[in-house]
This record gives sequence, C-alpha cells and structure tokens, in this order.
Amino acid sequence: MARYFSIFLLFISFTLTAQQIKSPSEFLGYELGTEFTRHHEVVDYYEYLAEMAPDRVKLTVYGQTNERRPLLLAYVSSPENIANLESIRQEHLKDTEGTGNLSKAIVWLSYNVHGNESVSTEASMQTIYELLTNKSAYLENTVVIMDPCINPDGRDRYSNWYNQYKNTPNQVDPNSKEHHEGWWSGRSNHYMFDLNRDWAWLTQKESQQRLKVYNEWLPHVHVDFHEQGVNNPYYFAPAAEPYHEVITDFQREFQVTLGRNHAKYFDANGWFYFTKEVFDLFYPSYGDTYPVYNGAIGMTYEQGGSGRAGLGIITAIGDTLTLKDRIAHHFTTGLSTVEVSSQNATRLNEEFRKFYKNQNFKYKSYVLKGDADKLNALKSLLAKHKITYGDLSNGTYKGHHYATGSNGSMSLNNNGMVVSTNQPKGTLVQVLFEPNAKLSDSLTYDITAWSLPYAYGLDAIATTSLVTAQASQSDAKTTNIDKGSYAYLTDWNSMEDARFLAALLKEGIRVRKADRPFVIDGNSFDRGTLIITKGDNEHKSNFVDMLQSTANTFQKEITPVSTGFVDSGKDFGSSYVQMIEKPKVAVLSGEPTSTLRFGEIWHFFEQQLHYPLTVIDSEYANRVDLDEYNILVLPDGYYGNHFNEDQLSELKDWVRNGGKLIAMGGAIDAIDGEKGFGIQKKKLENDEEEDIEPKPYEDWERERIKSAITGAIFKTKVDNTNPLAYGYGQNYFTLKLGSRGYDYLKGGNAVYLEKNAKPFSGFAGSEAQKQISESLIFGTENVGRGQVIYMVDNPLFRGFWENGKLFFANALFMVE
Ligand SMILES: [Zn+2]
Repeated sequence: MARYFSIFLLFISFTLTAQQIKSPSEFLGYELGTEFTRHHEVVDYYEYLAEMAPDRVKLTVYGQTNERRPLLLAYVSSPENIANLESIRQEHLKDTEGTGNLSKAIVWLSYNVHGNESVSTEASMQTIYELLTNKSAYLENTVVIMDPCINPDGRDRYSNWYNQYKNTPNQVDPNSKEHHEGWWSGRSNHYMFDLNRDWAWLTQKESQQRLKVYNEWLPHVHVDFHEQGVNNPYYFAPAAEPYHEVITDFQREFQVTLGRNHAKYFDANGWFYFTKEVFDLFYPSYGDTYPVYNGAIGMTYEQGGSGRAGLGIITAIGDTLTLKDRIAHHFTTGLSTVEVSSQNATRLNEEFRKFYKNQNFKYKSYVLKGDADKLNALKSLLAKHKITYGDLSNGTYKGHHYATGSNGSMSLNNNGMVVSTNQPKGTLVQVLFEPNAKLSDSLTYDITAWSLPYAYGLDAIATTSLVTAQASQSDAKTTNIDKGSYAYLTDWNSMEDARFLAALLKEGIRVRKADRPFVIDGNSFDRGTLIITKGDNEHKSNFVDMLQSTANTFQKEITPVSTGFVDSGKDFGSSYVQMIEKPKVAVLSGEPTSTLRFGEIWHFFEQQLHYPLTVIDSEYANRVDLDEYNILVLPDGYYGNHFNEDQLSELKDWVRNGGKLIAMGGAIDAIDGEKGFGIQKKKLENDEEEDIEPKPYEDWERERIKSAITGAIFKTKVDNTNPLAYGYGQNYFTLKLGSRGYDYLKGGNAVYLEKNAKPFSGFAGSEAQKQISESLIFGTENVGRGQVIYMVDNPLFRGFWENGKLFFANALFMVE
C-alpha cells in the first residue's frame, strides 16, 4: 500500500509539473516561430525551466562570449539521473580507460553554431519543452546535454539586424531588404571566425570554453544543427564520402540507423530530405568530425533557410518557407535522435568502449623537435584536447620524416617531445598528426591537409614503434639582467617573440633589429635578433626594470652585452642595425574584403599579438588620410576593379613616401601588374590547345576539381636573408588554399614554390599543380621609400597555421 501510495504521489507531482511548465510560446508571449527570440530571452526561458523542474534540468553557465553573452548548457534527464549526474559522468569517462560500466546514453545537442542559421535556437526551446513533457520517457536512460546557442554574438547580430529591417508583417518576397543581410552577417562570431571550423584548433573563446566541458563528457552522440540555402531540402546523416579511415563500421552504421528513423517522420509528413551527399566526414575541426574522432556518433543536420529566410520567404518552386516549418524539422530530428539513442543505449556504451580500446594505429609515436616556443604552443593545444605528451631530450629516431616526406631519421639535442597513440585520445592523435590523411574521395567540402607538425613548424618523425618519454624538466626561467649593460639581445623566431616585441613597443621602449648575423662575446646571433640599447632608451628611467619584467612575462632569455663592438658582423651603430618603426596599422574591412579573412587579421592583432589596429570600412575609406598610418593591410577578398585610377595613384604615392602595403590573397589582383605594381599573374606556358576528348556530362564535377587545390601542404623555398623571412629556416611548409599563381618577383622572393612542386599532404588537382609551378608565396617589393608585401597564401588562415604567423609579424616589424 505504502509503495502504491508513493508511486501515486510521484505520478501526481509529475503531471502537475508537466501542466505547470509553460511552453516556449506561453513563456515568451508570442507563438514560437512568429518572432526571433533574442539571446537574453532564450536564457530567461532556460532559467525558467531549471527553476520549474530543478530535479530534471540542471543549467550551467560554461562561459561568456567576446560581447559578454552567457554560454549555457542544460542537462536534461530523469530526476534519478540528474541527482547522480556527476557519478554518471565519471562512470562514462572510465569507458575511455576500458573500466566503465554505464548503460545510459549521453546525447549532446548543439544549436546555432552559425549565428544567422537562426532557427536552431528556436527549435532547441521546443525540443527541451517536449523532452520535459510528452517525451520524458526517453530520459529514463538518457542524459541530454543541450547547448541552446554556441554562438550568441552572431545570432543576436542576425536577429537584431532582422528586427530592424523586417517589414510588418514580414515580406516573403525574396527581393525585400529583410532577406539580404549584407557583409557583416551573423554567421560568424564576434571576430568573424567560423566556429564550425574551430573545434580542433580552439582559436576562439567560445570553442575553448565549450571544449573544456565537452571533453569532460565525451558524449555518445553529438548533433550540430545548421541551415543551408533556402531552396534545399533537409539534410541529415548518413554523411557523404570522403569518410576519414579512422571512422568505425559502427559509427557509419549508426548514422544510418538514425537517418532511417528521421526519414520515417519526414515521410509521414511528406517533407523532402537528402542524405549521403555534400556533407562529408574528413576535416577534423567540425562539429560532426571532432566528436566522431572522439568516439561519438557525430552528425550535421541542415535545414533550408539561413540568413536569407527571415520569418518567411518564397522559394524557387513557389512555396513559402516559414520559420515555423524550419522549427518543426529541427525539432523532429532532435527528438528522433534522442529516441534512437535511448533505444540503443546499451549498444552505444559497448561500442564507445570498443572505440577507446582501439590500438590499431600505423604510427605509434610522433617525435617532434624545434624551437621551445613552438613546442610550447603545441603543448598548450594538446592539453586542451586532453592529449598527453612527454619530453624527449636526446636520441635518434627513425620513421616517416616530415621534412623530406619519406623514410629517414632525426636526432634530438635537448629540444624534443613525443606524442603517442597508446592513450585514450589515440584516434585524435592520429588524425591531427599523421603526415597525410588517406582521402577516399577528393570531392570534399574543405581542406584536405592539416598535419600539426607542419602547422607548428616542427620537424618530426612518425615511428611504427612506441617511443617512451623521458622525465620532463620544468623550464620556467626568470632573467635577472645586469642594469649597467650597453645593450640587451634576444632572438627572433616565434610568435611569442613577436608578442614580446609588441609589448615593448607599446611600453615605448625603442628596439633595433639586426639585418646581418653577428657574433659577440663568442655567441652567434641571427638576422632579426632584437637589440635593445641603453642609449636608445635613456628617456625611460626604469627601462631595465620594464625590460626585465616583460622578458619574464614572455619567458624570454635576454643576453646582456657590455659593448656594441661585435666580433664579426655589423656593430650596433651600423646602418644594418635599424630602429624598428612603431607600426600604426590600418586594416580595410567591408566590401570587397572577405569577412573571414578580415576577421583573422582583426583577431590576430587583438587576441594574439595584443597590438592595436584601426579598422577602416571601405564605405568611407576614401575620406581617410592614409598618412596617419604607416601600414595598410588589404585582406583577401573579391576586389575586381575595386580601386579606381585616382585611388590607385593615391595608394602608390603613399607607398612611395614610405608606407607599407600588405596585400593578401585576392587583394593582390586589385594592385597587380596592370594596375601599376610589380607582381604578375602567371600565364601558363603551354596554353596551346590540347586534344579534347569528349567526357560524360555527369562527370563535370570531377573534371572541375583537376583545377582545384582544396587545402594542401607544399614545401617551399625560403630566402631568410629577406626581412619578411627572418626567423625561418631554408624551407617552409605552406597551406595552399587555391590554384592562384603569380610569377616570381624581380627581387624580394622571400618564399616561393619551385618547378613542379607536389603536395606533401592533401589534394591538388593536376591542372592546379601546373598553375602554381614556380610561383611566389610571400614577397616584398621596394617602391620608392616604401614597400609592398605580397601574401599569396594566407599565414593567418583560421588562426591555426601557427608557423605562418611570424611572416605576418615580420611584415609589420622587420620589413622596412
Ligand atoms: Zn551552418
């Protein structure tokens, strides 16, 4: 009787709660789908749910965006599971070590990573409400973790914009302003980064904070909700080829299981959808692949809509697509995902354990060597992924040698580390480190190469036998420098060095650079060495204290010298030892620059170099006096004939008078040979007609990719006597993102491709390879008293190509 009574009570309390909880429409005061809900209102609704059902919803704030919006996670499950949430998490994580015994499914739903794909957050509110009311049975054996908005800054940018420009009532005519968002769209985050390209590189604040929690949970299933063009039917997994070869049979199979369940609901409603096309599983920095490489079933769902759709829009076939329709579709797949996961909880746990037991890796260890700053940068990234590593001080290692792309050996001398695959994160280690990921199909959505040793500028050996680490020694250094010295010297070969220099310049300390190698007191110093003299800094009474504390902040070793008289090379008073001019930087933004490429520069200055920039919008750039700046950066973009004759001659005059113009990617076309500067687009030598063979019409896509390079790594030659290449060795591995080719410059070829260069990693089509044979990568051109710096490839791409960033710093500080 007592037992009966308590069940009865439980039933009563449950139905009461269910009745009391307001739906999103009831809570917000408008029918869901008739307005865009702003982020603070979304936060209010989730807080309301956590208050109304504290036994079933645990709400946490895991971070904050650049614009100070809160980032939320809601844990939704049965009262019993919520009460035991921490022990469920710990038991689940034991599975990565092969000792866990969990039988509950963990499903993570991520909404609105692209801010203007604005339906997702709306759908999340309907989904959590349904889970707490009609579908609470799923939660008995399932923990659902919901992130209602990964990118609140972008989403509010879109919804605020839409609210300002929408017609009342909304206008479904696609020509209306409310369907044309413009340059500063809501897709990306504050710094215009695409957060769905950042899961592996963690350059952005949102990703760093989210991945910390993600790696504390490692869910069985992860869904990333997106939107695509207005006219596309819904897309859900199974994904398209290429699949990365580490993806297991079960991961493939379960994508199909989920897809079939979604299809059942879509069929019943007569909704259109497609699977197995367009969205592949290869590049590791997506919201589907990263979870997959961490043992989850990772999926992308794509609704038709995005920033064009507004509250309603007429599609190409004459239907009206409404926000309500879009919500219904994402709501359906979200719930269907939880349903299938709940039905397969036991299997998901078994297979997750198997995934982490895998030791079937071709390479057992990756041995890396290089500059301590570069090793530290890599270590910091690995720690964020919970990848373990160890130090190696000496020895000779054999295996695949990254520098040559073939078998070889490499010796260490106190400057190495090792990352092995015999750890829970072994699969992720393989994906991030292997020299050349196997591509099952070259038709892919994204870059095909990212191998970290190349990205971080480290030499490396991949070994087929396990290399064990040696004991790590702490290398925190504090410098105590002699106050009476004539000058203080420090090397120049990493981003950390650039940050150090930027900090000194901001403090008003004057710094010189060596344009020739020299020897002093028996120590050798390379080009680019920073020389900070007492004589230059007599205006600063506490100059040595400032120098010392800045050196400690950046862990820089400083060599004091008591004379400016060198053993060999140029003395410190020579014209080969010039004062570094303090940069006053302007960066063009707006049309015709690319939002992503502009954002990378913006983020580089503010969040990586910590140095101020002035952002100039192209709309009023004409009215800006360029003489207030000594550096102008033109980001990559689609310039065409953006600059008229007058603007071009003004630009040329400014450079002639000592300005430094940095032209990146497509910006080069805005100023190239025909427009008055020295760079020329390559013309193919063998342009005579080849015999044309008829090809089947349906093969056009495959024919087209012969001219494409989808992000491949090439080995280039470096002239490190050019200030643009100070701090680099004889070779540099560049991430080539397209087949755009320019001839060598008459002088100033700092980095270039030799004849018939082949990719070391990733895909490059046969025609594209001809196009870039013997072409410029980075170069400088003297024009009057100024300089033009050409960056054909993008050293700041997605902020992750660590070893390219010093080129950009050289352009700012070393080139004169
Ligand atoms: Zn998207």
